[in-house]
Amino acid sequence: MDMHNNPQQTIIRVAVPAPLRQCFDYLLPDDTLPDMVRPGMRVLVPFGRNKLIAVVDQVTGEAGIEPARLKRALSFLDQKPLLGNELIWLCRWASQYYHYPLGEVYASALPARLRQGKPVVATRSSIWRLTEAGRLSEPLPARAFRQAGLMQGLREAENGLSAAQLDDFSDNWKVTMRSLEARGWVEQRDAEPVAPVGACLREQAHDLNDAQQQAVSAIHAGLGRFAVYLLHGVTGSGKTEVYLHSIATVLEQGRQALVLVPEIGLTPQLMQRFRRRFDVPMAVFHSGLNDTERAQNWLQAQTGQARIIIGTRSAVFAPMAAPGLIIVDEEHDLSFKQQDGLRYSARDLAVVRARHNDIPVILGSATPSLESIMNAEQQRYRLLELPERAAEASHPAMHLVDLRHQRLDEGLSDILLQKINEHVDQGGQVLLFLNRRGYAPTLLCHDCGWISECRRCDAHMTLHQASGRLRCHHCGSERVPDSFCPDCGSADLRPIGQGTERTEEALRRHFPHRRITRIDRDSTRRKGSMEQKLRDAESGRDQILLGTQLLAKGHHFPNLSLVAVLDSDQGLFSADFRSAERMAQLIMQVSGRAGRADRPGEVLIQTHHPEHELLQYALRQDYHALSRFLLQERKTAQWPPYSYLALLRAEATQKDRPMQFLQQAADCVSDNHEAGKVMLLGPVLAPMEKRGGRYRAQLLLQAPERADLHKLLSGWLPRIEQLKSSRQVRWSLDIDPQDMF
Ligand code: ADP
Ligand code: ZN
Ligand code: ZN
Repeated sequence: MDMHNNPQQTIIRVAVPAPLRQCFDYLLPDDTLPDMVRPGMRVLVPFGRNKLIAVVDQVTGEAGIEPARLKRALSFLDQKPLLGNELIWLCRWASQYYHYPLGEVYASALPARLRQGKPVVATRSSIWRLTEAGRLSEPLPARAFRQAGLMQGLREAENGLSAAQLDDFSDNWKVTMRSLEARGWVEQRDAEPVAPVGACLREQAHDLNDAQQQAVSAIHAGLGRFAVYLLHGVTGSGKTEVYLHSIATVLEQGRQALVLVPEIGLTPQLMQRFRRRFDVPMAVFHSGLNDTERAQNWLQAQTGQARIIIGTRSAVFAPMAAPGLIIVDEEHDLSFKQQDGLRYSARDLAVVRARHNDIPVILGSATPSLESIMNAEQQRYRLLELPERAAEASHPAMHLVDLRHQRLDEGLSDILLQKINEHVDQGGQVLLFLNRRGYAPTLLCHDCGWISECRRCDAHMTLHQASGRLRCHHCGSERVPDSFCPDCGSADLRPIGQGTERTEEALRRHFPHRRITRIDRDSTRRKGSMEQKLRDAESGRDQILLGTQLLAKGHHFPNLSLVAVLDSDQGLFSADFRSAERMAQLIMQVSGRAGRADRPGEVLIQTHHPEHELLQYALRQDYHALSRFLLQERKTAQWPPYSYLALLRAEATQKDRPMQFLQQAADCVSDNHEAGKVMLLGPVLAPMEKRGGRYRAQLLLQAPERADLHKLLSGWLPRIEQLKSSRQVRWSLDIDPQDMF
């Protein structure tokens, strides 16, 4: 870039929220003094025929264009930077790593209200507490049970209760509180900006068992320095207790803790546990917040008023005044990867952020991702293990059901139907899993378990319903489905993987008098309906639950006694190389759910391949052996973590456009410097070729070295953007893709 230096001028280089890979230079607004301006402030700028809210990325004396062509910014929205240096750093890092425009990264990091340029006013969060009169008041009559309950709660809380704590108490506490206020028994006060050091525990913590103690000591010793701890322990082994202890120490040091949880894991149960334990303001981020609440929580995290920040994926961009610790619970969980826009991994960003701040990060899971396991093996992460369940609970009995030659009704075997009946009869709850992630039907022989394979490469064919043909997801070759099994000659070839709706219908036919509920994305689209369904399920009201991975974690079904995985073959033989790992994780996670101390549970896994090693390890609950087996497979095939991937996706309403664009994009690679070090797979049509009226295709890039891949991408993307065909499709780049479809 030609620099035009003029010492009299202050120029701001801003990132605009638009799909552009460059920043833009502006002169300061007329009334603005140069020394008032700093990176991280929002500024309104003229852009084309529009006005945009941009973020100042740099303040400089050099313009990238001729001074005469510089435009003047219109006005600043902030008096001090909204984004601190640390978040600016994180956004720049994410922009580079994910090859995503910086302005759009800033936009994704900010809550909607702030992104839209709304003014920043952090309302101090307030607390409710008893007045002198309230403390001395007579007990209320029994019919005023709401008021009595609230009074009791306030009596127990020495420092009063915040609105968030009261939300846990009851849904409409506000009405009750107003009536207490009218009597002069309660008052509303500003919360202390920062709780005094040391005074953060509300309830006494558990005494730790030896394994927990070791983990907590290791983390404690490492505070104030960067380290990644991989906390591996089955469900119920006491990981959360380790988090709580570590957080307590961080709070005592006057620092903040950031806790990331999976989308569905943010259950009221977990929040209540945090609120019961800690007497400090918390900022919670989840999908149920409205824009105002979200912005308020963001600002409370920024000022340091909120001492614990808990949230799903996007909370990794929450600001922190005094970062002390980051925790990623269920680190293997897919919901940490954003699947559109800025396709970031919140877990990976958490590690990057911890390193930048020189603080520890804890990755916890019963079934750590293979990436994390390999990092632990290579000593980059420190492995902490909790081998035993903390609370009393017995291990469930695990069975494989061999489906070969069995009668199946929409995926339900006779044995399974019989078991369901038994358990429900005895008052138990039954949970049936369909593994829908990366769903791609393939052709399977019901008599011997043979799976249609590509003749050209080592991959399973995908059955495309629309065309009725088998297609290889890797090399793109196609053929007519076989009529007979090449192994045993049987004509009973079926697509595996069935829909949840059809299985639900079959269940209702078999158990007309039972309470059956289906919980998946489709059945819970309405806002709040997922929460309602889960509450009903957790209350024990529903006897048979049918669901997807959504149900595998974070929930406590008190009566659950039977868990069944309906279609494990679909996980074992999917075209997505990650599906086996997910299948195994699912089995391990769900088997932790069945049964209680006084009633051991049962786990049933349906399969055409009962001899499969992966199922055998899962059956023995041996995650170490299982992950070694999977890692070996990945190594042989050179899949991650033994290589690095980027996936270029394209879709269009016109059938040929995506393939045309991807082919031209692939052609641009060939004369690239790094071309020899990066392998191109495809382009191929997506396994689910048509979705929402659009045709989809993809091109996979694979490299043994991360640096080579990224170097290639940096040179390649600007060239792709020049292609005419790129404007005829919707395309996106996914770094470290988790879902190959
Ligand atoms: P995880 O997060 O691994 O699923 P939790 O921390 O939720 O495990 O612990 C499971 C159960 O055991 C919880 O009810 C918790 O209160 C209890 N628990 C955890 N640690 C201890 C301990 N050291 N002593 C007694 N109970 C414990
Ligand atoms: Zn066969
Ligand atoms: Zn092939």
